[in-house]
Amino acid sequence: MRNTQIRHSHIYAGSVSDRLEVSKRILSMVGKELTQDADFRHQFSLLQEYAEALNLHMANMELGALCGTCATSPSGGCCSRFMSGEVDAVQLCFNSLAGIEVKVVQLNGQECLFLGERGCIFLFKPMFCLNYTCKHIYDTCTPADLHALEKLTGQLLSKQYQLEQHVLHLLQKGA
Ligand code: SF4
Ligand code: SF4
Repeated sequence: MRNTQIRHSHIYAGSVSDRLEVSKRILSMVGKELTQDADFRHQFSLLQEYAEALNLHMANMELGALCGTCATSPSGGCCSRFMSGEVDAVQLCFNSLAGIEVKVVQLNGQECLFLGERGCIFLFKPMFCLNYTCKHIYDTCTPADLHALEKLTGQLLSKQYQLEQHVLHLLQKGA
C-alpha cells in the first residue's frame, strides 16, 4: 500500500495489525503537519484534558474496582478479544501523539489485545468502549454520577470526532 492510497476502509476495517500499520503510515504522512499546527495542538491538548477529566471521574466512581471484580468473575469483564476490532487507525494515531506506546499487549486468552495489566492502554479509547455503560454500573452508581459520566464522555467523543475529521481531510488533500 502506498501512502497516497489510505482509504476509509484501511482506517476502520481490516485486521488489528493492519490498522496498527495504517496508523503508523498516517503519522508519517500528516504527523509533522499536525504537530506544527498551533490550532491542532491547542485542540489536541483540550482532547487530552477531556480524556483525563473522564478518567478522573471514572476513578472517583470507583469503576476500576468494579471492573476489576467483574473481570475476575466467571463471566468475565467486557474487554474481550472481540472488542479489539473496535480500534481505528486515527484513534491509534491520537494515542501515539499523546505519547502512548501503541502496541498489542495481550497475546493470550480471550481478552482485548490492548488490555494491559493496569487496564486499557489507551488514553483515547474506541467510541464503542466509551459509550458502553453496563448494568453493573447503572445498578451501583448514582444518577448524578451517571449524568456526569455521560456529559464527560460526550464532550470527549465530540472533540475526538472533530479532530478525526481534520485528519481525514488532510489525508484526502494529500491523496
Ligand atoms: S464495564 Fe461493566 S461489564 Fe465491563 S468490566 Fe466494568 S463492570 Fe464489568
Ligand atoms: S476499553 Fe480498551 S481494553 Fe477494553 S475493549 Fe476497549 S480498547 Fe480494549
